[in-house]
Amino acid sequence: MGSLLVKNAALLATMDDDGAEIAGGGLYAVDGVIAQVGPSDGLPASADEVIDARGMLIMPGMVNTHHHFCQSLTRCLAQDEGLFGWLTTLYPIWANITPHAVYTATRLALAELLLSGCTTTSDHTYLWPNGARLDDQIQAATEMGVRFHAARGSMSVGQSQGGLPPDRVVEDEAHILADSRRLIEQYHDPKPHAMLRVVLAPCSPFSVSLDLMRESIALARSYGVHSHTHLAETLDEERYCLERFGRRPVELIEDLGWVGEDVWHAHVVHPSAAEAERLGRTRTGVAHCPCSNMRLASGIAPVGALRRAGARVGLGVDGSASNDGAHMLGEARQAMLLQRVQGDPAAMSAREALWLATRGGAATLGRDDIGRLAPGMCADLVGYRLDTVALAGGAVHDPLAALVFCQPPLADLSVVNGRALVRGGALTGVDTPALVAEHNRVAAALARGEKG
Ligand code: ZN
Repeated sequence: MGSLLVKNAALLATMDDDGAEIAGGGLYAVDGVIAQVGPSDGLPASADEVIDARGMLIMPGMVNTHHHFCQSLTRCLAQDEGLFGWLTTLYPIWANITPHAVYTATRLALAELLLSGCTTTSDHTYLWPNGARLDDQIQAATEMGVRFHAARGSMSVGQSQGGLPPDRVVEDEAHILADSRRLIEQYHDPKPHAMLRVVLAPCSPFSVSLDLMRESIALARSYGVHSHTHLAETLDEERYCLERFGRRPVELIEDLGWVGEDVWHAHVVHPSAAEAERLGRTRTGVAHCPCSNMRLASGIAPVGALRRAGARVGLGVDGSASNDGAHMLGEARQAMLLQRVQGDPAAMSAREALWLATRGGAATLGRDDIGRLAPGMCADLVGYRLDTVALAGGAVHDPLAALVFCQPPLADLSVVNGRALVRGGALTGVDTPALVAEHNRVAAALARGEKG
């Protein structure tokens, strides 16, 4: 793979424990792993690839902890619905997704994330109609070179059993478990610096049986893989769980054993104070998705309380049908603003928002080899030009904070595993116009009620 030298950054923000920010900094990486970080004049003079980062802020690649790639095909639909109305509008459209649609939407979503400065992402697709498989996503991520935590989502309780999704989009539970086992054995890489990990992720306690929730996490734990689901997203969900199970969502998930360092939940908007404490005590992870929570009027997650209690909290852009954009810096900005709107201008600082987008996301996915720039870490980094109209008058005072106080920019540079996948603000290995055209063709077919 070779060596990479990034030098002369206007500022290099390490996101290390001491928060070191190095003017004129750079780094040197060998075979996808950082060997040296520091002032540029102390780094090796040459490398196989040399990137002059003059005029740029360099920071760790961001980590997205929750997404549904296929939803990029259905942006701007169900515009004014809450979660349950939004889901029931979109399920019939998603039922026509094909392997090609999954592959194309994954490429589009990864392109969008890379261009915003995200280098590691999870995805949580839970509809696999018409022969679509997680393999279609894995192929796209592997080809594009993005670090990927592929969650095998699932739904098994259709409308005829009192669930929300139509019967034709749910799967048989024995098949879900068998396919989960196959995917782990075929793809999961537990080693440090892994490019691909598999996650087991039934969609939510209201779209699979409680038995599947129990069996899925037992299977995950038998292989040492992590588990993920949606939790406490809306008050509708809370009412549904109380009526159907006589338990609040967090109580239910605790009963099922879905807490701990190998679990993370999307949203967690409505835990009680005691529930936030318990999630924290068990070091359970949370994917905070502020744009989606605002779009669907779900509420404001108690990020401060969860973090103080010890929960691992990262950011998620959530699916593109409830955001409707996958811009990781934009998500960090909204996280900061949404915590403040409740009355405390110091509720979240710009650096804390960026910490959530990097270190917080890494911890949420259970990784200690991404999210900061230091020797031994993955060579995943991004760069933003500071000499732009949008950052003028901001970056001159505080370049790092300007990334989220000002209009969040797109990345000029995104490097994953030592490879520059975005240079000069453009994807290096993707025919972007062709990708957008094909994605739009599939999206239009789905909207017409055809297979995509
Ligand atoms: Zn979601």
